[in-house]
Amino acid sequence: MTIASKQYEALTEEKAIALAQSLYPFPEGAELVCREIGDGNLNYVFQIKDPKSGKGLIIKQALPYAKVVGESWPLTLKRATIEANALQKHSEFAPGLVPAVYAMDEELAITVMEDLSHLTIAREGLIQGAAYPKLSEDIGEYLGRTLFHTSDFALHPFEKKRLAVEYSNPELCKITEDLIFTDPFFNNDTNDYEPELQATVEAIWNNGPLKLEAAKLKFSFLTEAEALLHGDLHTGSIFASESETKVIDPEFAFYGPIGFDVGLFLANLIVQSITRSGEERQVIVNHIERTWEVFSTRFSELWDREGIEAYKDTADYKEFILEKIFRDTLGFAGCELIRRTIGLAHVKDLDSIEDKNLRIRLKKKALQTGQTLILKRSELTTISAVSGLLEELK
Ligand code: ADP
Ligand code: MG
Ligand code: MG
Ligand code: MG
Repeated sequence: MTIASKQYEALTEEKAIALAQSLYPFPEGAELVCREIGDGNLNYVFQIKDPKSGKGLIIKQALPYAKVVGESWPLTLKRATIEANALQKHSEFAPGLVPAVYAMDEELAITVMEDLSHLTIAREGLIQGAAYPKLSEDIGEYLGRTLFHTSDFALHPFEKKRLAVEYSNPELCKITEDLIFTDPFFNNDTNDYEPELQATVEAIWNNGPLKLEAAKLKFSFLTEAEALLHGDLHTGSIFASESETKVIDPEFAFYGPIGFDVGLFLANLIVQSITRSGEERQVIVNHIERTWEVFSTRFSELWDREGIEAYKDTADYKEFILEKIFRDTLGFAGCELIRRTIGLAHVKDLDSIEDKNLRIRLKKKALQTGQTLILKRSELTTISAVSGLLEELK
C-alpha cells in the first residue's frame, strides 16, 4: 500500500498519530499515544499505540542527514524506500523472520510496520545473558533463504540485474566502505579507542599483510554483486525472544558479497563469546556453529531443489561457491570485530564492561581474533576450526 504522497517533512508525534489513524483501522474513538523510540542518529522511529486495545504500529522515518561525530552530513532519503522494499523482498523468501510492512511512502521516507516491542533487541538481551535458543536456527534460515533466492543461482540474469539496479545504494555503501574497510586500518579521525589500546592499534596500522587483506575484502565488497544483502546484520538489527526472531533495519541493503551478511552476524556473536565464560560462552559458540550449518545446509538444499536449470547437478561448483562464501565470511567478520573495537561505531557488549582492565583485555582479544580471522581465512576451512580458534584465544 502506498500513501498519497506529499512533500517531505520530519514527522512530529502529533503528525505520526494522524498518519497512523489514516492508515490503520484502530477502534472507533481510540485515543492513540505516540513515542519516538529511535536512537536518533539517522532515523526517527515512532511507536503509535491504542493503550486500550493494545493495538499499535511503528512508523520509521529517514532523516535527510546523519549525525556523526557531532556533525551532520546529508544522507539520501532513498534509503527508506530501499529498507521498505528489502523488508518485503526478504519476507517473500523468509516469511515470519521480518516485520510485516503495512505501508510505505517515498516522499515522506517512511516505512509503516508491525510493532515488535514484545521482543527485545538481541544485542541487549545477549548482554544480559539471554540464550535465545532459536537465534542461530532462524538467522541461518534467513541468511540461506534471502541470499540464495536473490542470487544468480536462483534468478534469471535479467531479473538479478534489475534488482541490482533497484537496490543501488551508493551513499550507505560508502559509509560501510569507509568505516569498516578503510578507517580502522589507518590513523583516521573517525577512529575512537581507549589510550590503553594505542600500541595494539598502531600495530594494526603498521601491519602490511593485514592491510593488504583488508583492501582485498573491501574490493570484494565494492565489486561482487552476489545477492541482495541486508547490509547491516549486527545483533542490534535483530529482535528476539525465546521463541521468535525478526530482522529489522535493512537500509544498507544492496547487491554485495554473500559472506558480508553472514560475517557481520557471526562477528557480533564472536564479541559475545569473548565477553562470556563457561557454559554461557558455550551457548554462543554453539550459535556460531549452528548459524553456519543452517545457512550452508539451506543454501545447498535450495541450490539442488530450486536453483535455475544451469546449476542443476553441479555439486563441485556448489562446493566451490560455499567455500568462497565461508572464506569471505571470516574475512568480513574480522573487519567487523576490528571496527567495532577501534572504529567510529562501537558495541555496547564491550564498551559497557565497567572493570577497565577486563574491558581492555577483552578489546585486545577482539582485535586479535579479528586479525587472525582476516589473515587465516583461507586456512580455517570449517566452522569447527573457527570454534577451535575461539577456544585457543580464550
Ligand atoms: P536505525 O536505522 O536508526 O538504527 P532501527 O530500525 O534499528 O533504526 O530502529 C531503532 C530502534 O527503534 C530499534 O533498536 C528498536 O528499539 C526500535 N524499533 C525499530 N523498529 C521497530 C519495530 N518494528 N517494533 C518495535 N520497535 C522498533
Ligand atoms: Mg541505531
Ligand atoms: Mg538499527
Ligand atoms: Mg539502520
